[in-house]
Amino acid sequence: MLIDYLFLDKNTCALCQSEYIYKYDLCRDCYDRLDYVDNKFLLKAYECYSIYFYDEFFKKLIGLYKFERRTEFSRIFSKMVYDYGIKKNLFDCDYILPSPSSRKTLINRGFDHIRLITDDFIDKIKPVYLDDFIKVKDTRAQHDLGKEARSTNLIGAFRLDKDLTGKSVLIIDDLVTTGNTSLEMIRVLEQANVKDIKILALASERRVL
Ligand SMILES: [Zn+2]
Repeated sequence: MLIDYLFLDKNTCALCQSEYIYKYDLCRDCYDRLDYVDNKFLLKAYECYSIYFYDEFFKKLIGLYKFERRTEFSRIFSKMVYDYGIKKNLFDCDYILPSPSSRKTLINRGFDHIRLITDDFIDKIKPVYLDDFIKVKDTRAQHDLGKEARSTNLIGAFRLDKDLTGKSVLIIDDLVTTGNTSLEMIRVLEQANVKDIKILALASERRVL
C-alpha cells in the first residue's frame, strides 16, 4: 500500500534508507560519519562559524542535495543549522541572509538551496529575511578558478538597496572555502552601514584548533 511506503520512507535514514533515524534524518552510522568541528574564526572583523568539516562525506551530502536535487535533504541541513544557531545564540540579530543564488542558478537548479534550508525555521526565530539583498551577477564556482580569477569573479555580484544603520545580519551559507564570497557579501553590507555581521556555514575546509 502506498501509505505503508510513505510511512517507511519517512522513518528511515535519508541517506542510506537502511535504518531508523537517529538524528537529523540520518541513521546512527551515517550521523557518526559527520565530522563536527565547531569552528570559529574571523573574516575581517566578523565572527565566522562552521559546523562540520568539509570532507568527502559532507561533500557527498551537499552534492546530492545541490546537484542531484534531493530537496528532501534540506531538512537534514536545516536541523543542523537551527540547532547550532540556537546553541551559539546566533539568531539574536535583526536579519537572516541566506547566501543568494543568481537567477540563472535558480532556473538551472530549480530551487534556492540555502533559502530552502532557512525556510524551515525562519518562523521559529526572531530575525527576518534580508530580502533586498540579491545576487545580480552569475558567477562561476570559486573552486573552479585560479587565485587571480577568484578575486575578480565576485566583484559586483551582489546588490542591496537598503540602509542597515544599527542593524545586525547573520549570513548563512553551505560552505566557506576561501571566504571570498562571504567577503564580497560583507563589503556590500558594510556599504549599507551595517552594525554587525556574523557568518554561519554548514562546513569549511579549515580546522581551527
Ligand atoms: Zn544511514
